[in-house]
Amino acid sequence: MRPVFLTPLFAPAQSLAGIGPRLTLLLAKALDMPPGVSEARVVDLLWHLPTGVIDRRAEPSVAHAAPGSIATLKVRVLKHRPGPRGNKKAPHKVSCEDDTGKIDLVFFHADARFLERQLPVGEERFISGRVEFYNDKLQMTHPDYIVAPDARSELPLIEPVYGLTAGLSGKVLYKAVRQALERVPEMAEWQEANWLKERNWPSFNEAISRLHRPLEASDAATGSVPWQRIAYDELLAGQIALAIVRAKLKAQAGRRIAGDGHIRAKIAEALPFALTKSQVTALEEISEDMAGPYRMLRLLQGDVGSGKTVVALMAMANAIETGAQAALMAPTEVLARQHLETIEPLAEKVGLRVGIITGREKGKPRQAVLDQLATGEIDILLGTHALFQPDVVFSDLALAIIDEQHRFGVHQRLALQAKGKAGGANMLVMTATPIPRTLLMTHFGDLDVSRLLEKPPGRKPIVTKALPVEAMERLILRLKAQIAEGAQVYWVCPLIENTGKSELAAAEERAAHLAQLFGGENVGLLHGGMTGQAKDAVMAKFSDNKLQILVSTTVIEVGVNVPNANIMVIEHAERFGLAQLHQLRGRVGRGERQSFCMLLHKSPLGDVAAQRLQMMEATEDGFAIAEKDLDLRGGGEVLGARQSGLPGHRVANVPNYEALMTAAHDDARLLLASDPDLTSTRGEAIRTLLYLFECDEAVRLFRAA
Ligand code: ADP
Ligand code: MG
Repeated sequence: MRPVFLTPLFAPAQSLAGIGPRLTLLLAKALDMPPGVSEARVVDLLWHLPTGVIDRRAEPSVAHAAPGSIATLKVRVLKHRPGPRGNKKAPHKVSCEDDTGKIDLVFFHADARFLERQLPVGEERFISGRVEFYNDKLQMTHPDYIVAPDARSELPLIEPVYGLTAGLSGKVLYKAVRQALERVPEMAEWQEANWLKERNWPSFNEAISRLHRPLEASDAATGSVPWQRIAYDELLAGQIALAIVRAKLKAQAGRRIAGDGHIRAKIAEALPFALTKSQVTALEEISEDMAGPYRMLRLLQGDVGSGKTVVALMAMANAIETGAQAALMAPTEVLARQHLETIEPLAEKVGLRVGIITGREKGKPRQAVLDQLATGEIDILLGTHALFQPDVVFSDLALAIIDEQHRFGVHQRLALQAKGKAGGANMLVMTATPIPRTLLMTHFGDLDVSRLLEKPPGRKPIVTKALPVEAMERLILRLKAQIAEGAQVYWVCPLIENTGKSELAAAEERAAHLAQLFGGENVGLLHGGMTGQAKDAVMAKFSDNKLQILVSTTVIEVGVNVPNANIMVIEHAERFGLAQLHQLRGRVGRGERQSFCMLLHKSPLGDVAAQRLQMMEATEDGFAIAEKDLDLRGGGEVLGARQSGLPGHRVANVPNYEALMTAAHDDARLLLASDPDLTSTRGEAIRTLLYLFECDEAVRLFRAA
């Protein structure tokens, strides 16, 4: 359980003065909430770090106030001059002065009575805002702050600026943040004294306070000293949590799974191809793990089209040879069905029984699968998230495989794994996303990795070309020629912002347009709003080469496999990230035919978008693309808005996070080696850290042990 002294931080943001139901909703929008948390909490305000500051320290006399600059002035109120009645456009002006000169405060659409109360004639006020020169006079339009001399401390001399959302003002947010800061309890230091001293890092409390109440403008800058401290805290929490999960999994003795190979031999014979060297190596590594005394936790990383499915099937066969069962979970219905389609025919040939459970299986058929699963009549269970449901009970699950891991969280992985006997199955995670090492560490800590480095033989490089959308007519002529020779085309239409058009409408429109040119019977449409059956039907037609063009919204899932499809057209390619473009392109280049990827874009292209498309033209190497992606995103595509290059982290996205991550990784290992149960003084403090960054899962494992 989370220690009670942290409770105030995890209370809903509504518990703060000035935050009602409406603002709570806006906060949830403006703050970068962790997955699964819909209501903003106090702690979420702490992690919402400033994007910059407004420096109000300049306190000149009126005569010395520089037009165009932000200044804080101490003035006497002389006179109110409301705009003439009936003229709503004329502002309300307030003349003020100090001993050196005069300045007007200017308010549009003002409430005169309210202003008179705020700025009583004859009294002194501190005002802060931008000084302007207008009609030969100094003025300040809508000062940001107006405070009485005795409330001077309410005027932040260095004011942090936050990412906001429509309807949420910086002032309201800042007031809430300051209340959140007051709720930070005193906590025992969890970092080592030497480490802090070497880096000149302050305590957690001082660091978080300096970020939100900067003393120097540099305090709130990305990667500032206090920021580094908190970033390291977050990274360390993540690394310790992962190390704990991993250590506990390893410590729970697994069962040695070593099949005799008879099913695998039959599968190999039934396959129309020989396994690649990479596939063979990966399978050896997996078999070795499964035969070992510990539970396997291995990542199978292979670029799109590298042939992970066969590896999964062989690994499952290994488990089944010993009389146990295996499960393969996909992130979407479409993918789960696709697995069924690939695996079932092979399974039938070699006598394996396959079942599927997704959100679509209901009632009796679903129950039938569950029954067969419980009695062990089903060897391989395929499915989606639905596999987590408590009534999905295996007779003896020995291997759980998750495809496209990045869409699942750590605890989902644990939930599936826990369905094995004695609380654990061997686990294989498959991903096409070439995750750079630092990100792997973030997600998994120490994870064993097998890589499929080579693609199946006979693949031709995909010709990738970026084209301005004006070239669409030419493109269509070329498609006609290609289709006449038997080509099949994916055509992806993304959401187009600011046109008021929905993604669906854009795709429907394009499909209608292409149907006119290519004949309605040759063009299919796939979108997220369709029922599962309807999607299957369209996919099946495309797969059977009964459709030549498949227009879709972005639902073409990672993993869809139609080897004959050889052309990918992506409209508004400038709107996609590199990873997504690479995934989409991976749908083609799987067969004998020369493949093409056409990236249609609007012009002129922004700088970052142009770099992305150039990268796509230049290489098919998923690794190089992933690195470029991090690079581009780390640079911050949107000025002022920090883009997270580190998924799952709230504050750790500092420029040197790789170095911090590596240090945190080592720190976590050393700590757990000397204090595996976190019972030392530092260990106790570390538990607080884990709760603070919501790594509760990891702490829970201690109690389970
Ligand atoms: P991914 O790694 O993207 O999941 P798939 O498992 O869908 O890739 O495989 C892509 C295609 O490559 C499939 O059509 C599959 O049958 C084929 N394939 C897999 N392994 C080989 C191989 N060793 N030789 C030839 N084709 C293969
Ligand atoms: Mg796949």
